[in-house]
Amino acid sequence: MYVYLYIIALIWLEMTYTQTDKYASIRNKMVDSQIESRGVSDPYVLRAMRKVPRHLFVSPEYGEDAYGDYPLPISHGQTISQPYIVAYMTEIVNPSKHKKVLEIGTGSGYQAAVLAEIADSVFTIEIVDELAREASSTLNKLGYKNIYVRSGDGYNGWPEHAPFDIIIVTAAADQIPTPLIDQLADGGRLVIPVGKPGNVQELKLVTKKKGKVETERLIYVRFVPFKRKQDNL
Ligand code: SAH
Repeated sequence: MYVYLYIIALIWLEMTYTQTDKYASIRNKMVDSQIESRGVSDPYVLRAMRKVPRHLFVSPEYGEDAYGDYPLPISHGQTISQPYIVAYMTEIVNPSKHKKVLEIGTGSGYQAAVLAEIADSVFTIEIVDELAREASSTLNKLGYKNIYVRSGDGYNGWPEHAPFDIIIVTAAADQIPTPLIDQLADGGRLVIPVGKPGNVQELKLVTKKKGKVETERLIYVRFVPFKRKQDNL
């Protein structure tokens, strides 16, 4: 009897190990071939991308596709960005262990997890209640204690926790919401796709130095629209 139990336990362990290991090696390949090869070099960003189990943030039916070089649908018509874009945006905001981050557009929670691997804390806002709940549950299961998910319209930021060293917006807005610029700390960095939804947008980097705000154009991207609460979700 005990022998059987022992064998079953061994098989189970072996299966779990191969499962995790299988995704770990696919994840490492993703980082080598899609991210490092395209110029992302911050060791903390690369380490976070090698660690966060992206397949657990998308529907299990995608399997290895979770690590493909493209965005994927999540529920409610939204998308999780291509891995390279997540890495690029993370590197651009220059995260480090004492920094406080605000993310607008939690979606699956994946970008928040990548940031939480590096920064002190991540405050993230999602306008679709159900997505906020799902992301929160995924992040809890994975044991993240430094991510705070709130459901609501991120246009007004999260004033109670401002200022933020980093603000990252993962939905395309016509203009940069003024409350977000106000909530950026001095020396802080804000990244946001700006442009018409359904088209390509320009990723912009906003920096604040001694109160002076500067905007820089980065690359072209394609994000789902930044919505407002009155848009009748
Ligand atoms: N960062 C996500 C991807 C986000 S997709 C990830 O890693 O999976 C963009 C998300 O922004 C969608 O889930 C959309 O519902 C949300 N969103 C759009 N407008 C918003 C707003 N005003 N406030 C908060 N979230 C918003």
